[in-house]
Amino acid sequence: MTRKSGYYGRFGGAFVPEILIATLRQLEKEFYEAKSDPNFWSEYTSLMSTYSCRPTPLTLAENLTHYFGGAKIYIKREDLNHTGAHKANNVMGQGLLVRRMGKKRVIAETGAGQHGVAVATMAARFGLECTIYMGEVDVERQRPNVFWMEQLGATVVPVKDGSRTLKDAINEAMRDWSASMETTHYVLGTACGPHPFPEMVTYFQSIIGQELKEQMLQREGRLPDRIYACVGGGSNALGIFSAFFDDQQVELHGVEAGGKGLESGHHAARLSSADARVGVAQGYKTFFLQDEEGQMKETYSVAAGLDYIGVSPILANLRETGRVQFHAATDHEVIEAVRLTMKKEGIIPALESAHAFAYAFREAPTLSKDTIVVINQSGRGDKDIFTIADALEDKQWKEFIIKKARGYESH
Ligand SMILES: *Cc1c(COP(=O)(O)O)cnc(C)c1O
Repeated sequence: MTRKSGYYGRFGGAFVPEILIATLRQLEKEFYEAKSDPNFWSEYTSLMSTYSCRPTPLTLAENLTHYFGGAKIYIKREDLNHTGAHKANNVMGQGLLVRRMGKKRVIAETGAGQHGVAVATMAARFGLECTIYMGEVDVERQRPNVFWMEQLGATVVPVKDGSRTLKDAINEAMRDWSASMETTHYVLGTACGPHPFPEMVTYFQSIIGQELKEQMLQREGRLPDRIYACVGGGSNALGIFSAFFDDQQVELHGVEAGGKGLESGHHAARLSSADARVGVAQGYKTFFLQDEEGQMKETYSVAAGLDYIGVSPILANLRETGRVQFHAATDHEVIEAVRLTMKKEGIIPALESAHAFAYAFREAPTLSKDTIVVINQSGRGDKDIFTIADALEDKQWKEFIIKKARGYESH
């Protein structure tokens, strides 16, 4: 299906099997109706302020600001959302839409498991049946998240096809949806996939930037100079950026996973490296990490949530128009950024979020004291205990924590 709606420059669209076209049209119609219903947004913000932690605080990072001696650094605290990340904004919004549509079941795919836990949480809250598709390899790697999804009442289906990871789980979820769309909604986890998902996910996440704008005007009486956000699929970045698209003086910076360095080939930098090409996959057109023949490459990042082959078509277009600039931070810089933020502010950013911190830390010392920057802390880092411990120099803790991690893997 190629249609004019849902295009961002030359990116986006909806390239899906014939059977799903009617479902996507129905979803688009329901979404536009909800969007133009003034009660819907207030129902959404009221849900988020009573069930999650909205508005999330805007924290002045006084110690980091002093340490770098340059720009004034603020942190937008999406880590304080229920289930620990901005993902709650998207899944709870889609939950309200499911209720409007009268559907009784939700499905989703998950790689690292964070989106799966968020969807299972939403399904429990709204009394929906829930099936989560997950590659068999990821099920083994993410035992604690699988445990929580099941306790929350979801059925977790290990996918045994192909590489048994995220892309195989996506295929399986699509197959389920084709057979069950009458009763079932597919809760996509980021601003990717066929139209209307990129627009819809961005709409729910835009609450981040709207709040930030209000908080900043209240605290500083003006807009920030630069905003930094990490980019996996692109939803937290679009969420914080979108309120500022028309404020040309606000620089917007997206930070991708530079992995072991762009030159190493082990990364997930689709918009900040020369390794990506425009293609159509997973229902939409964007930059994918693929070779000249269109073969998808292996992606890599220390942060599971950024380890993604495609990227939001909305961000791909914003790169072309120049409104958003894209960079990459390496694993090494990211671990250092986590360590510094813990020591200086008592805050543990998720490894994903720490990409934005790492790049902001590179720039902060070079900026004047009257420059204001905001880092979007998309999530909290508790979940990264094993990875961060692995990078620690403290031998005793390292051995203890790694042993626990092995325990998870072998049971
Ligand atoms: C999932 C996740 C991301 C990546 O997703 P986006 O759609 O790019 O925002 C980033 N940070 C955290 C904490 C996540 O859990």
